[in-house]
Amino acid sequence: MTLSPLILWFRRDLRLDDLPMLSAAVASGQPLIPVFILDPETEALGAAPKWRLGLGIDAFAQTLAAAGSRLILRRGPALAVLEALVAETGATGVFWSRLYDPASKVRDTEVKAALKARGLRVESHAGHLMHEPWTVETGQGGFYRVYTPYWRAVRGRDVAAPEAAPARLPAPDHWPASDRLEDWQTGAAMRRGAAVVAAHVRVGEQAARARLDAFLSGPVDRYAEARDLPAEPGTSRLSENLTYGEIGIRRVWHAALMAFDQGRPGAETFLKELVWREFSYHLMHHTPHITHANWKPEWDAFPWQGDGPQAEAWRRGMTGEAFVDTAMREMYVTGTMHNRGRMIVASYLTKHLMTHWTIGLDWFADCLIDWDPAANAMGWQWAAGSGPDAAPYFRIFNPATQVEKFDPKGQYRRRFIAELSRQPGPEALSFFDAVPRAWGLDPARRYPAPIVDLAEGRARALAAYAARGGQG
Ligand code: FAD
Repeated sequence: MTLSPLILWFRRDLRLDDLPMLSAAVASGQPLIPVFILDPETEALGAAPKWRLGLGIDAFAQTLAAAGSRLILRRGPALAVLEALVAETGATGVFWSRLYDPASKVRDTEVKAALKARGLRVESHAGHLMHEPWTVETGQGGFYRVYTPYWRAVRGRDVAAPEAAPARLPAPDHWPASDRLEDWQTGAAMRRGAAVVAAHVRVGEQAARARLDAFLSGPVDRYAEARDLPAEPGTSRLSENLTYGEIGIRRVWHAALMAFDQGRPGAETFLKELVWREFSYHLMHHTPHITHANWKPEWDAFPWQGDGPQAEAWRRGMTGEAFVDTAMREMYVTGTMHNRGRMIVASYLTKHLMTHWTIGLDWFADCLIDWDPAANAMGWQWAAGSGPDAAPYFRIFNPATQVEKFDPKGQYRRRFIAELSRQPGPEALSFFDAVPRAWGLDPARRYPAPIVDLAEGRARALAAYAARGGQG
């Protein structure tokens, strides 16, 4: 007698290695039907993350094929799609890895209740994080609002060892029909930027693992210093893979922990960064408004500026402030931005331009291939001063002095700003191919003068801050 299948609903876990929901499903002995659903929540992704997701889906379909399986693609509301698949295949259960952003939580709760009501075996597993957000509690039983005590609480905790990928996935006798990935047009909104960013992506499980190995084989030793220098390849660049789940966080943690045990300098700093990621999810779970509203409501009365010509100059990498423009251009060329750059451009937008942080948050969500709902929200609210454990508003990064400190030889600037170099390199020039033609940018034009005097912008921000009592 042939066993009825289980459906594996893949979302941000495009891997076979270190995947608890897959191990649980394989243990059932039933045939498995892997599915990816282009539902309204996924359709709503920004241009760059959606394009990059399409690449990830394509790579994962190949990984599954090599393991004797397939990735079935369906479009529509998740519950309707899953119900249809259950009816078509006679599946007795649906498994997935948990997500924690507000929209996914609402969707998944509804899907789970409805499928359970039909008598199906429905299981949601950990997989995206090391520590489920509700399992880390303060002594008083609440959640952590500050990173350092959170780090102290989790640093010594056991993280289960990663589970190896199964060599083969049991296939059903009959495969249900699948959409064609090309028909989903996941790259449509990226337009011409896709061709430029394509040179920088590293897609799929093997690529992610190679990145981890390469980082731990050398750069980790200098990570504590080099992670602040945007011109150096000093960080792991794993954010692109972690966000689509092309590598399991437990795999990364255990590899880094081994480096730490071997006394590798930089390994502890790297472990701490992985915990920043966990912390951002802890915050998003407990205070979901972090994704769209001031975490501290005292900031609701702050006179943030709305969108306008200054924000547009910021978006275009044309503020005349070299560090800011370099980082913004890095994002259009590579799809990611160095952490130091993210801090500078976010501080500049929210302080020197006094523009609402949600404008920057939304723009990053459209442009970053490593967009992550929790890290992006925490990062923006941190920079703006409105978030938990945030940089105090009165501490304003000066992009000019930051440049001297973190790009003293000007390599980062020259790499991405064609107008500042006599013989611009291919990356600096490719910025002009990546951005919308409608922006009318031209490398032969003069680099713009600063749109805001740094001292004036700083004084204006501080005055607005003082006017509301300097709290928050
Ligand atoms: P590494 O330095 O190699 O760190 C390893 C991993 O640790 C990263 O891949 C990431 O998963 C995690 N990590 C490191 N720093 C942070 C941090 N500050 N917060 C949370 N996790 C961290 N990160 C994203 O992954 N997606 C985003 O959309 C995002 N938006 C941000 C927006 C702003 C305004 C700021 C200030 C930061 C943002 N970050 C975001 C955090 C950080 O900039 C990136 O995680 C980091 O630059 C990724 O490069 P890497 O993989 O080489 O990091």
